[in-house]
Amino acid sequence: MFLIRNIKVKGTIKKGRGVFATSDIKAGTVIGDYLGTILPEKEDDLSRGLYSMAWGGDDDTIILANPDKNGIHLINHSCVPNTWMHPYNGRTVYFALRKIFKDEELTINYLIGEPDEDCKPCDDVCHCGDIFCHGTQHSSEYLVDAHEKYERRIIKKQHIPRRPKSGTQLKKLSRYPKSISDDPVFVLFSNRKKSPVKIENDEFPPIKTLRCLIRETGRSLEFSKIGLTVVGIREGHAIVKT
Ligand SMILES: [Zn+2]
Ligand SMILES: [Zn+2]
Repeated sequence: MFLIRNIKVKGTIKKGRGVFATSDIKAGTVIGDYLGTILPEKEDDLSRGLYSMAWGGDDDTIILANPDKNGIHLINHSCVPNTWMHPYNGRTVYFALRKIFKDEELTINYLIGEPDEDCKPCDDVCHCGDIFCHGTQHSSEYLVDAHEKYERRIIKKQHIPRRPKSGTQLKKLSRYPKSISDDPVFVLFSNRKKSPVKIENDEFPPIKTLRCLIRETGRSLEFSKIGLTVVGIREGHAIVKT
């Protein structure tokens, strides 16, 4: 389900359907809730390749989205995503990692762990087409662990309802947060098709400031006096282009 109106679903060249912004989306905006049917995880084997998500940080239960309905389950994977996942009262909401521009495709990192025995051959090829593409939808153990720690930290402060019975269809909640704040765990990349923000500093600001600038503007940061352009932040390090 979507919680904003300024998006549309349309076909993409290599990735099936995708979700696109019809006007700019502000950084932090909550995009939607992952709705579907609650099932025990073992039934996920039957649905491999379809749309599913863990429920409430519970490893045994999944949410299987209805492929015939529009919703955030149609957001494609990218190695340089512009949305991220956030746990909310047993659900998973997606939010804008940074400003997302009109006509841009919304993307997320599926945070699939390292390849296992189901990956021979591996179906989880990435078609994001970015120069920072890893070629696979599998993420490093480091990133998956870091996100799980983030989830546990957030879930601790929340009310998780009892696990719904298998077969329950999740419904829209009466309340959602409007916006999610930044966290160093999220992989943050600018939209490199847009012109960078020019910054006249003699020195590099702290990572926190760089994150804040990329998040709010959606753009790369061009430090003309230093001769570097910051295009993203990953694992606490600036990704630069000279
Ligand atoms: Zn795989
Ligand atoms: Zn990729």
